[in-house]
Amino acid sequence: MREQLAVVGNLLALELGIMVNVPIYMDNMATTPVDPRVLEAILPYFGPHFGNASSKTHVFGLTAADADGQAREKVAELIGARAREIVFTAGATEANNLALKGVADMAGAGAHIIASTIEHKAVLDCCRTLEGRGVEVTYLPVAANGQIDLDDLAAAITDQTVLISLMAANNEIGVLQPLADIGRLAKERGVLWHCDAAQAVGKVPLDVESLGIDLLSVSGHKLYAPKGVGFLYVRSRNPRVRLQAQIEGGGQENGLRAGTLNVPGIVGLGRACELAQKEMVTESAHLLQMRQRLIEGLDTRLGALSVNGDLDSRLPGNLNVSFPGIDGADLLLGLRDIALSSGAACSSKEETSSHVLRAIGLNDDLARASLRFGLGRFNSMEEVEFAIDRVAAEIERLDSNLTTAVKARELTAH
Ligand SMILES: *Cc1c(COP(=O)(O)O)cnc(C)c1O
Repeated sequence: MREQLAVVGNLLALELGIMVNVPIYMDNMATTPVDPRVLEAILPYFGPHFGNASSKTHVFGLTAADADGQAREKVAELIGARAREIVFTAGATEANNLALKGVADMAGAGAHIIASTIEHKAVLDCCRTLEGRGVEVTYLPVAANGQIDLDDLAAAITDQTVLISLMAANNEIGVLQPLADIGRLAKERGVLWHCDAAQAVGKVPLDVESLGIDLLSVSGHKLYAPKGVGFLYVRSRNPRVRLQAQIEGGGQENGLRAGTLNVPGIVGLGRACELAQKEMVTESAHLLQMRQRLIEGLDTRLGALSVNGDLDSRLPGNLNVSFPGIDGADLLLGLRDIALSSGAACSSKEETSSHVLRAIGLNDDLARASLRFGLGRFNSMEEVEFAIDRVAAEIERLDSNLTTAVKARELTAH
């Protein structure tokens, strides 16, 4: 499987005594490769099974409809939902738009929404738009560990509050919110909870019933399915969530998301959810082991590693660290054979550093000095060793302010 995934078959022999294929991909929070088993499941739907799932009068359509139905079951099972509560979309961005605008449009003017300052831009940009339409939005701050304060949340809820939009796991620092507590509070106060779970679904157990989630956004390409597919879970009872559709047309997805179904994408997402469910326990143990080694290795080479966000309440594959005095963008330039990302290289043009890192109290320099490791299903311990060696070497090269102790240790090591 690994051979199939190698982008370039460039084998590097190292002084470390290991062999790895470069470039190495360690940016799995940005996107994941399609699992070969997912691709295998999809291919017939780009071939002979090309039918329109709405064409119920012939075998082509029925084959597509059947595949859609099976995928819906698998997706629903992973999150403890029912198949009819799944609305397939083009990804988590669209799911977030449908959840926020769908609830706000139903509620009308004067509605109040609560979000956090570290939500994904897909949530924050929707909030801004809704503010322009007369919706009031409260943005909850987070503590240095990256979590919201439940008392803040309780205090923010008013009679006008129609929705709480709080993510499961953050895409930059991997920190998990206190999900069970948020769900309990939302239920007590009778407010709907939308959870952007693009990073969390398939990585940690998430059950919409036990957590009290009413709306949940998922992205295929964050869990080894293709880009361009995702879904929104919409609770159908206790309570039944009512949404205003944002894309109108042929009435597909219970009228909530019109458009011919993306059957290959849906089939892939179904297979990806099935695999995630089966392999989550062993996979997270492997990811945790690799992350532990990454922390130890970097700490030994560079000393006093500064981890951003809570290390315990966190996705197993995420590590976000700052190297004071280093510019993340410069660091990435010197690390061309490892794909990583930095809080300096931000999605938004007007921003120079990550809104998430600044929200947890980092100043602009420290936010720009950050590096995000996104370990995934296809990473190996050898790649982690390679990454430790390359990152440490590059930082030592860039940083003239290293302590003499670290320098001395480096000299004796070679
Ligand atoms: C990736 C991501 C999104 C956007 O998902 P797409 O499927 O790429 O639209 C939204 N929220 C979070 C937390 C993400 O990580």
